[in-house]
Amino acid sequence: MGHNRIFNFSAGPSMLPEKVLERAASELLNYKGTGCSVMEMSHRSSEYDEIIVSVESKLRRIMNIPDDYSVLFLQGGATMQFSMTAMNLIAKTGCADYAITGSFSQKAATEAEKFGTVNIAASSEDKKFSYIPRQSDLKLDPNASYFHYCLNNTIYGSKWDYVPETDVPLVCDMSSCILSEPIDVSKYGIIYAGAQKNMGPAGLTVVIVKNSLPFCPPEDTPILLRYPTMIKNKSMYNTPPTYGIYLLGLVLDWIDEMGGLEEMAKINREKAEMLYNRLDNSNLFKLGIEKPYRSMMNVTFTTGDDELDNQFIKGATESGLISLKGHRSAGGMRASIYNAMPVEGIKRLINYIDKFEAERQ
Ligand SMILES: *Cc1c(COP(=O)(O)O)cnc(C)c1O
Repeated sequence: MGHNRIFNFSAGPSMLPEKVLERAASELLNYKGTGCSVMEMSHRSSEYDEIIVSVESKLRRIMNIPDDYSVLFLQGGATMQFSMTAMNLIAKTGCADYAITGSFSQKAATEAEKFGTVNIAASSEDKKFSYIPRQSDLKLDPNASYFHYCLNNTIYGSKWDYVPETDVPLVCDMSSCILSEPIDVSKYGIIYAGAQKNMGPAGLTVVIVKNSLPFCPPEDTPILLRYPTMIKNKSMYNTPPTYGIYLLGLVLDWIDEMGGLEEMAKINREKAEMLYNRLDNSNLFKLGIEKPYRSMMNVTFTTGDDELDNQFIKGATESGLISLKGHRSAGGMRASIYNAMPVEGIKRLINYIDKFEAERQ
């Protein structure tokens, strides 16, 4: 890497590909001869229209999004989608199924309780969210309007190893794994993701929504929190996060250059395997998540000793490997290794692990 940049293992906002930042910098002051920055353009100008239309079509192509789905570029983060999904869908029957496999899915369920009855279809809290419940353990409510789950659990470092089978639409938080591998969009009713993990900068939230869902927001639902408003106005009821959308376009161009999602998935698997293998063969570090459920994006580990963990994190920072501290609710360490983390960063982290361990034998 150039520009004296460091390896940033933050869970989000996280690293962006260096090529994307270089291109953004080169286009910052004068975008394609317009004499202004994308940040300064009217969202209703023809120049900007060209950008948003092309970003949407790139995302549709790369993720293979079927035509009967809308792609929305919203604000408010994934957290606002915890509310919005429930506000727009739960009233059909008054209840919904939620699977609790970590902090964010818990927050989504708690938010949904304001708008209807939440059935906890499954929870892995009994073993500190270290596993993913099996299909046969899901206690589905026959009356549910939808089933909500979080595909990749950013804080604990686990990931669903199968797509749940239900008779109702799947609503899925993919904030920390979207664009890391191909997924079958047609299996979902709604997919949402805050951009700041794998798509671009904070401030943009991407929502992929099936147009035929039975939206039923109550009368008093604020206009911006209604999917039908956003679908009808193509994310332009008000000013969308214009620069974030542009930057997502640059990230998508980079994914194309890398060979698309199949190739991204291959690289991500290799990166994760290198790190997990090293940690599995360690007599100092322990991994928190059972093997079949390990995340490819967030690797959580600990020595089991807070003081030693702190030494590890401090020494890593001094070596240019930053933000390895685990989330405050999980403790230990977490290496977030999204698309933009180069293989070089994983190798550097493994070298540091080798050194740290050797010094303590
Ligand atoms: C980061 C994250 C969130 C929260 O996203 P915000 O954009 O900060 O609201 C929700 N869910 C998952 C899975 C996340 O990784």
